[in-house]
Amino acid sequence: MGIKKPHSIPFKQMPEAAETLMALMHAQGEVARLSEREQLFSSLLVSVNAVLWAFDWETQQMIYVSPAYERIFGRSAGLLLADYNEWRDSIYPDDLDYAERTLAEVLEKGSVVDREYRIIRADGQVRWISDKCFVNQQVDASKVIVVGIAEDITEKKHLEGELQRLATTDVLTQSSNRRHFFECAHREFEQARLDGTPMGFLLLDIDDFKIINDSYGHPAGDQVLQRIAESGKGALRRGDLFGRIGGEEFAAVFPGCAPEMAKQIAERLQREIQRLSFNHNGKQYGVTVSQGLTNLSPEDEMLDALFSRADTAMYQAKRQGKNQIVLA
Ligand code: GH3
Ligand code: MG
Ligand code: MG
Repeated sequence: MGIKKPHSIPFKQMPEAAETLMALMHAQGEVARLSEREQLFSSLLVSVNAVLWAFDWETQQMIYVSPAYERIFGRSAGLLLADYNEWRDSIYPDDLDYAERTLAEVLEKGSVVDREYRIIRADGQVRWISDKCFVNQQVDASKVIVVGIAEDITEKKHLEGELQRLATTDVLTQSSNRRHFFECAHREFEQARLDGTPMGFLLLDIDDFKIINDSYGHPAGDQVLQRIAESGKGALRRGDLFGRIGGEEFAAVFPGCAPEMAKQIAERLQREIQRLSFNHNGKQYGVTVSQGLTNLSPEDEMLDALFSRADTAMYQAKRQGKNQIVLA
C-alpha cells in the first residue's frame, strides 16, 4: 500500500468533488441571501406602521402577528398567539359582532377590505382600526389561512368626523345648516308616512332683525342669532330636528309629536326668546320671532307641502303684527 497524501483526491473523482464544493458554496450563498432577506423583511415589519397577521381558520389560532401589533393594539403578541380570544377581548364591545361577522365573510368573498372597528388597548385607550383581510391561496390547499393587515386609522376617523361636522353645521349658530336640516327632515317625513305617526313642522323668522343690525351692528345681530339657536335647541325634545335655513330663519321638525304637543313646544320657544335680553353700550333690548306651525296630514305626499303651509302661516303671523305663532 502506497502512502496517500492526506487530502489527495483520486483524479477521476475530481469533477464530483468540485461539483460538491460548488454546490456547497452555492448553498452558503443562498443561505446568506435568505438570511439577508429575512433581516430585510423583519426590519420592514418592525418599521411598517401596520399589523400583518395570519389566522388558521380550522384551528381558530393566530399563527403569525407582526411586531407592530404590540405598539398598535397595546397588547402582548404572545398572548394573542396563545389564545385567539385575546383578539376578541381587544374589540370595543359594540363593534364585536361586526368585526366577527366581517371576518367570517372573507371565506365567501375571498377578501374584505372595508372593515373598520374600534379596539380598547390594555391602557384603556380606544382606537379605530382598519383591518383588511384576505383568504391566502398559496399555502397548503387543505388549510384555510386568513391573512390581514390592520392599521390605526384613529386620526383619519377624527378628521372625517370633523369634516362631517363642518359640512352639516352652520358655523355661526352651530345648528344644522339648511342642506343637512332638509336631508334629515325628508328622512323623518318618509318615516312618519310609512309608520303613520304624527310629525310637526315649524318655521321661525326673527322680527325686525334688520333694525337690530342697523341699530347695534352686525356682531350684535350675530349674537342674537346665536342666542335664538340656543333657545331653539333648549326647547326641543331629543330626536327633534332644528336648523338655520336662512339668514334669520330657523326650522324645526318634531317627529312622532302630536299637534297639541308641537304647539306647546312652539309656545315654550316663543316665551324663551321673549325672555332673552341683550345689552349694547348700556342699552337693553330684546327680540321677538314669528312662527308658522303645521302638522303632517295623510294628504301630504311631499315635505314641500308642510314647508309651504308653515311658510304661509309664518307670513300671516308677520302680517298680523309679528311676535306670535300661527297654526296651519
Ligand atoms: P321681518 O320682521 O319682516 O322678518 O323683518 P326683518 O328685518 O327681520 O327681515 P329682513 O328680511 O328685511 O332682514 C333680514 C336681515 O337679516 C337682513 C340681513 O342683513 C340680516 N342677516 C342675514 N344673515 C345675517 C347674519 O348672519 N348676521 C347678521 N348679523 N345679520 C344677518
Ligand atoms: Mg326672513
Ligand atoms: Mg325677519
